[in-house]
Amino acid sequence: MNIHDKPPHEEPRRIQVNPADNVAIVVNSLGLPAGTAFADGLVLNQFVPQGHKMALADIAAGGEIVRYGEVIGYATGPIARGDWINENNTRMAEPPPLDALEMATRPPPPGEPLTGYTFQGYRNADGTVGTKNILAISTSVQCVAGTMEYALKRIKADLLPKYPNVDDVVVLTHAYGCGVAINAPQAVVPIRTLQSLARNPNFGGEVLVIGLGCEKLVPERLLSETAPGEPGPDTMRMQDHEGFGANIAAILERVEARLKVLNQRKRETVPASELVVGMQCGGSDAFSGLTANPALGYCADLLVRAGATVMFSEVTEVRDAIHLLTPRAATKEVADALVEQMRWYDDYLAQGKVDRGANTTPGNKKGGLSNIIEKSLGSVAKSGSSAIAGVLKPGEKLTQKGLIFAATPASDFVCGTLQLASGMNLHVFTTGRGTPYGLAAVPVIKVSTRSDLARRWADLIDLDAGPIATGEKTIADVGQELFELMLAVASGEKQVWADKWGLANDLTLFNPAPVT
Ligand code: CA
Repeated sequence: MNIHDKPPHEEPRRIQVNPADNVAIVVNSLGLPAGTAFADGLVLNQFVPQGHKMALADIAAGGEIVRYGEVIGYATGPIARGDWINENNTRMAEPPPLDALEMATRPPPPGEPLTGYTFQGYRNADGTVGTKNILAISTSVQCVAGTMEYALKRIKADLLPKYPNVDDVVVLTHAYGCGVAINAPQAVVPIRTLQSLARNPNFGGEVLVIGLGCEKLVPERLLSETAPGEPGPDTMRMQDHEGFGANIAAILERVEARLKVLNQRKRETVPASELVVGMQCGGSDAFSGLTANPALGYCADLLVRAGATVMFSEVTEVRDAIHLLTPRAATKEVADALVEQMRWYDDYLAQGKVDRGANTTPGNKKGGLSNIIEKSLGSVAKSGSSAIAGVLKPGEKLTQKGLIFAATPASDFVCGTLQLASGMNLHVFTTGRGTPYGLAAVPVIKVSTRSDLARRWADLIDLDAGPIATGEKTIADVGQELFELMLAVASGEKQVWADKWGLANDLTLFNPAPVT
């Protein structure tokens, strides 16, 4: 007798999101065996794993499979009421055409202002606010990465302990800078990402760029497009110094001058409107769109009402739900900008001879997500219900508050890097399958979609949205909890698990331009 034959030890539970749906999701953590009978007479014809879909009605071959009130695919053969629906008996629908969308037709009115919420942050001269006090050393080329790794060990051992108000020193290393088509039109993406990264609010406005001397991306270009191209006080080229020892001494001297400045920074009470939250998901499952992402959406609405900035991203996880987003654009220009980012990405994927269907992972499918359409409909729940106030191209810096679509790939590391460049000071990450993801530059709050994961990874998951699936908590309960957790984390009063263990993923630039 294997686990699939065991009678369920608990009441069988399923969730149907929208009354129009002809599928429901199994809630029970071990799945439900064939023969399971629900109160309404529905009997499962096969074992259906947790998070996977059961048919609520007979579906003819070619018939629509509906979840979230939207068509997520078509039946490849006849499906009976009580059958398990997965990627094997589903054919994916085409994405919504980009030239037939409702543009800014129903922007929601602003919610009631939410006042009185504050956090303890580091105010910067340019008006932005940091949630950490970090010295970031930029690099113009990968050639200096090994040297900087050595320098960082010396900095952390010899200098950082003398400046107790500075939380950390990080080196912004990357694979760009030379051996690339620096003048290709799309080279603007990695270059502006590096320019923007150096000025993340958590870095306090102290910029230092270490370069080699013969690379295509000259260090000064990270300061501004119009920099004279000569070494100034904020840049250094290794080839200008005699030997390794002299280089390390020169780097340490420049670093110490900046640590002295950053050590003067103090936290002060600032309104919640200074939060800049980047949201993304990774290792998604069928619960992502039922629990964690709707809770983030509820929290996103609270943040927008508090005057804060919320970014949602991941173009391939928005593309199939774009018809739900363009009506919410604040203006026709914002809707046009949204469509422009979708079209750019369609073309980018087509050049690589794939489409948005290349997004889903084996783990997504194991978690019950049959295809990218189902994943997208769950993913955009993060955006809540506010009007979409603006759109950023990859790596662009924020210039406004409210709900912003920051166009990025869905890849966790690339999305996180681009949101950092845009200016996020707090990151929220939902996961169903589980990931230890973290970033050195900002706190990452990880939210689990299922309580099983929160229990198994109690020392990695910061908030469990699973109780929404079992009815123990509402979406509003978890959304409010997340909002309050964000303020505590942004204040440095509560440490996220990734920071406790020192887990940080590499920064990963998005370079759509050719490598030479
Ligand atoms: Ca992601």
